[in-house]
Order: sequence, then C-alpha cells, then structure tokens
Amino acid sequence: MRIGFIGLGSMGQAMAANLLQAGFELRVWNRSRDKAEPLVRQGATLVEHPADTVEPGGIVITMVSDDAALRQVVDGEHGIAQRLGSGGIHLSMSTIAPQTARELAALHAARGTHYVAAPVFGRPDAAAARMLFILCAGPASARQSVQPLLEAMGQRVFDLGDDPVGAHVLKLSGNFMILGVIEAMAEAMALGERYGVARERMMEVLTQSIFPAPLFVNYGKQIAAHAYQPARFKLSLGLKDADLVLAAARQVAVPMPLAQLMQGRLLSAVARSRGELDWTAAALGASEDAGLRTGS
Ligand code: NAP
Repeated sequence: MRIGFIGLGSMGQAMAANLLQAGFELRVWNRSRDKAEPLVRQGATLVEHPADTVEPGGIVITMVSDDAALRQVVDGEHGIAQRLGSGGIHLSMSTIAPQTARELAALHAARGTHYVAAPVFGRPDAAAARMLFILCAGPASARQSVQPLLEAMGQRVFDLGDDPVGAHVLKLSGNFMILGVIEAMAEAMALGERYGVARERMMEVLTQSIFPAPLFVNYGKQIAAHAYQPARFKLSLGLKDADLVLAAARQVAVPMPLAQLMQGRLLSAVARSRGELDWTAAALGASEDAGLRTGS
C-alpha cells in the first residue's frame, strides 16, 4: 500500500520511519528537502510537491507544525486537496484548531474525500518507539482504512467517533493540562529551593509517593535540572497550543484562567529567545519570579 507523508520534523520523521518498517511504501515531502534524506535511505521516495505524495483515492498523512502550514499543504499551490480524488483520505495528525479541522473536513467532503483527525500524545522518542497514543475521529469507513497505519505508529488508538473536531479538542485539552503540571511543579520546586530542599530530591519523593505518573517523572526530572535542550517539543509550538486552547475556549465562552497564565509564561519565554528550547522551559518563569538562579 503506497502512502503519502508530509512533514518530516521531529515527530513526522520518526512516524514515517515506523511506517516504512511496517512495510508501507512511502512518498514523502518536506519543505526543507534535506530532512527527507534519512527516510530516502530507508526506502521512501522523495517528491517535488505535496500533491505528488498522493495516489488518487489513496491515503496521505500530514504532520506539519501548525494550522497555517497545514492549510498550505492541503489547499495551497500544489496542495493535496486537488489530487486526492474520490474516496481519498487525509489523515491529519498535527495539533491544530478545532475550527481548522471543521473547515478542512467540509473542504474534503465537498470533493468526495475524507478528513480523519489523528492528533497524538507522546514526544519524538515515544514516536520512534511506536509508543504514541493516537486520538482518531472521522467518517467510519475512513477510520477503518487508516487503522493499520495508526497501529504501525502508536501503542494505542482511541476511537472518538465521526466528528474530527472532538479529537482535536481532546488533544488541546491534554496539552493544556500538561502546561498546568509544568507550572505546578515549577512553583513547588521554587518554594522547596528557597527553603533548601534540593529540586531533584523533591521530585524524587513526590514521584515515588503521590505523583508516580510518567508525566511527572519525566517532566519533573527536566525541570528539576533546568535541562531544556535538546527540545523534544519546541516551546514556540507550546505557545501555539496555548493560543489554540484559548481561541477554542473563547468561541464557546469557557473561561480558562490557567491557560491564560501559561500563555503569558510561554510568550515571555519566547521574548527571552527561548522559543527553540523544550516547552518545559516555561518553568523558568516561576524560578525567575522567585529570584532564583537558573543557569539559563
Ligand atoms: P517540528 O519538528 O518543528 O516540525 C514541523 C514540520 O512542519 C517540519 O516538517 C516543517 O518543515 C513543517 N512546516 C512548518 N511550516 C511549514 C509550512 N509553512 N509549509 C510546509 N511545512 C511546514 O515539529 P514537531 O515537533 O514534529 O511537531 C509537528 C506537529 O506535531 C505539531 O503540530 C506539534 O504541535 C505536534 N506534536 C508534537 C509533539 C512533540 O513532542 N514534538 C508531540 C505531539 C504532537 P521544515 O522541516 O521545512 O521546517
């Protein structure tokens, strides 16, 4: 089965490699062509334009950074929409606005093609290890067609029904909760540090007692050590997600004061040239507010 794959960044690169390993033939496209080289060495075919990844009536996966990039590769010049053809499926795995998903689903439906949402939880190391959690929603027959692909990329696929919007809302909600955890850990560690409790020791005790979840363990270690490089998930993309959460909340009049706080933290980090650091660097704000040295 020949599949199109667009967007070979930190996540796409690892996901596409797993599809190749699972035996799918891939036609790949990336804005910066050089990033395709490792996949070409593994057997993928690099094409000239996003549209060239598409086999009429086939499946094309997108894993680009944001809404604007996604619209560009779908409906821009040489976009996939014009080539997908009746019955074709666009499997959209980026973290994007629910509204964008709604519009793209309508655009596809008008052309007899299908939009399937499949945003993911898990960082690039999880993507490489096929350990992603995938939130899948879209027309039932299309959902069924993409199932083998999703199984080749993740440890578990959650079926969220026909409406793609819900999958994107759920993904954004998860990222919002992670931001809340980052801030809570950052403030707690700043407090501990001021009283002479070592940051690492604090996280060790908390994660071996009341907070054993992997998120606390992994993010806690990074924040305790102020270790924000290399970026697994870029802080600038975290700000994109905070913006998306607040825009989605505004549309349905749901106040999210914690999201506003975190949008401010992330924006302030970007202003301090930290956009390319891992998004856990949002934790620096709490330390800096407390007058603590961070080494950054
Ligand atoms: P990334 O490493 O920055 O890669 C972004 C990809 O988008 C690159 O292939 C980039 O092309 C492409 N792109 C950006 N602007 C474009 C444009 N205008 N036109 C065409 N292509 C464009 O980001 P990532 O970490 O892989 O994240 C990809 C998506 O997954 C994002 O929506 C992110 O929120 C989501 N996500 C990330 C993680 C994570 O931990 N990293 C986890 C879950 C979900 P170039 O190579 O040319 O820059």
